[in-house]
Amino acid sequence: MNMMAEKIRDRVTIPMVLSQYGYQTSSRKRVPCPIHQGKDPNFCYTDQVYHCWSCGAKGDVIGLVMELFGIGFKPALMKLNHDFCLGLSSERPSYRERQLMAENKRVLKAYGQWKKKKKCAYDGLCAFHRELFRRMAVGEASEEIVAVQGDLEAWLEDNIQEVVQPWI
Ligand SMILES: [Zn+2]
Repeated sequence: MNMMAEKIRDRVTIPMVLSQYGYQTSSRKRVPCPIHQGKDPNFCYTDQVYHCWSCGAKGDVIGLVMELFGIGFKPALMKLNHDFCLGLSSERPSYRERQLMAENKRVLKAYGQWKKKKKCAYDGLCAFHRELFRRMAVGEASEEIVAVQGDLEAWLEDNIQEVVQPWI
């Protein structure tokens, strides 16, 4: 993920870009397309994205600046940073920032592994539940088995929501 691009997307909107570079904006958010220089208001936009129904151009603020000035992704970031006085640094993240990103990644990875283990445990307990239930059904279960089966069924029910959620 490019942090500078993220910050620019947070702070600069499509209408900001349009008016900064002398293009029309409208309260209906439909204007003549500045990219193919159309005459009809085929260029629709929100704060985050644009789409031209006529030439098919679409993208975000960075894409718009790339199209308007015929420049690449990185030069577009530099231009937005400069023209909107954002004062963002294009330098690579500091040691501390990289450390934090790595820590976050590790936590997420560990969490994913734990979730997988829980899914395994849940599936295993389901197998036990089937066996306990079978024993009860055929009248082979001791009182203790009946009690355990009740506890297990309650636990499986309490945890089912968490387990069926996707976590990838
Ligand atoms: Zn267009």
